[in-house]
Amino acid sequence: MTLPSSLTARAVTEPEVKATYAVDESVGVAAPDHFEVVRARDLDDVVEVLTYAHHTGTPVVPQGARSGLAGGAVAVEGGIVLSLERLRSLLDVDPVECLAVVSPGMVTADVKAAAAAQGLFYPPDPASSAFCTIGGNVATNAGGLCCVKYGVTADYVRGLEVVLAGGEVMRTGRRTAKGVAGLDLTGLFVGSEGTLGVVTEATLRLLPAPDPALTVLATFATLGEASEAILRLRRDRHRPSLLELLDATSIAAVQSIADFGFPAGCAAALIVQSDRPGHTAEDVQRYAAVLTDAGATEVAVADDAQESDALLAGRRALHHGLVAKGTHFIEDLCVPVGDLTRLIAAGHEISARTGVEISMSGHGGDGNLHPSFFYDPADEASRHRAEEAFGDLVKVALSMGGTITGEHGVGSLKARWLPQEVGCASLERQRSLKALFDPRGILNPGRVYWS
Ligand SMILES: Cc1cc2nc3c(=O)[nH]c(=O)nc-3n(C[C@H](O)[C@H](O)[C@H](O)COP(=O)(O)OP(=O)(O)OC[C@H]3O[C@@H](n4cnc5c(N)ncnc54)[C@H](O)[C@@H]3O)c2cc1C
Repeated sequence: MTLPSSLTARAVTEPEVKATYAVDESVGVAAPDHFEVVRARDLDDVVEVLTYAHHTGTPVVPQGARSGLAGGAVAVEGGIVLSLERLRSLLDVDPVECLAVVSPGMVTADVKAAAAAQGLFYPPDPASSAFCTIGGNVATNAGGLCCVKYGVTADYVRGLEVVLAGGEVMRTGRRTAKGVAGLDLTGLFVGSEGTLGVVTEATLRLLPAPDPALTVLATFATLGEASEAILRLRRDRHRPSLLELLDATSIAAVQSIADFGFPAGCAAALIVQSDRPGHTAEDVQRYAAVLTDAGATEVAVADDAQESDALLAGRRALHHGLVAKGTHFIEDLCVPVGDLTRLIAAGHEISARTGVEISMSGHGGDGNLHPSFFYDPADEASRHRAEEAFGDLVKVALSMGGTITGEHGVGSLKARWLPQEVGCASLERQRSLKALFDPRGILNPGRVYWS
């Protein structure tokens, strides 16, 4: 494919730089041989790419920071990678309406910092917030560490500007706190993984800032006791602002890169926080009592922000610990919280039966675990066994009314499971909507709806 001369000025030509735009953080989606990369500088560039692509039938993969874990931002053969990372303006922070208007390439942590500078709070907190972008978060409906209290990205998007296939610019939603005029197209675009249009601006809802969080770290002799303790905490009148679960494999993995203070031999850990204004110290003492009563073997309670960060540090290091441990693919199953213990037991049973090492950690308070399946990259059969083991666990999660993806998206890696989760009637309507917005199928082809 040859780009029109008007776009070549924004195209990446150096092969080594171009190669960095080929893939995201997912494991197992190969980079194509031929593709172009255009780094948009403004709305007009996005319009131009989507006009050209629509008329020529050229595939377009919108890209933020490429931190996606579902293969949704990987370049496609003969297509254009449209990078939004240079559109990173903070357009407005309105402390009266409690909203921020941002460009899609703004890094999530910078949006949080801009809100905090005005005494406000942008809650979504993916573990990748230091480098992922708002456009990617909107497109994947990103979650993270504080969803147990605050929900996901969708709960904070009031409106969007999107460029449609063909180049038309459309606004959805509004700035106002209320509004029911017309269908909720904002909701349709949040989580659509770059398949319906390209997000070029987001109007985000902000909250008054909470208190700095205090943390409790509790360890358990069994993973089952830890997951039962989660249920007790969820019945509490004041919902923790963070409730994370680590299993023995994950604890050993993070302890192997540094000493995060986990006692030797513990089978599971829960990390719990409160950020309730004026009540954090009281809340963490109450959580500590609940956790002790639920069978925790050791409980550490932070007195100040520094101790709090130290108790959370092991969780923050989880991704690095698992990467250091070995090659694995990371999954994203979410089940009703009441079924978490059964999901974990099923993971253990599958691991024992197949010989595949599986770690079962993640956002326990949401019932959203990121089971990681380890395999030998030099051994195709080992990888195949890991994929089969994942398939077995997916079936268990779906049988519980769970989902194949709590927050990472379907992308290309989970597309084969989508029909099983949503059913024919829903899938057909979803494909019809895709065709309505993108009749030539140029936007992120092969992702989400294709089984
Ligand atoms: C260490 C690590 C920790 C993580 N922790 C979490 C976590 O706690 N919670 C969580 O939810 N995710 C997590 N993720 C996954 C990832 O960070 C999120 O999915 C994030 O939202 C992706 O943002 P991005 O800017 O990197 O998007 P990309 O990876 O570039 O793209 C992701 C998807 O969004 C689409 N897209 C990107 N920008 C746009 C746009 N402007 N318009 C339309 N479509 C667009 C892409 O086509 C693709 O389908 C983690 C990833 C890593 C590597």
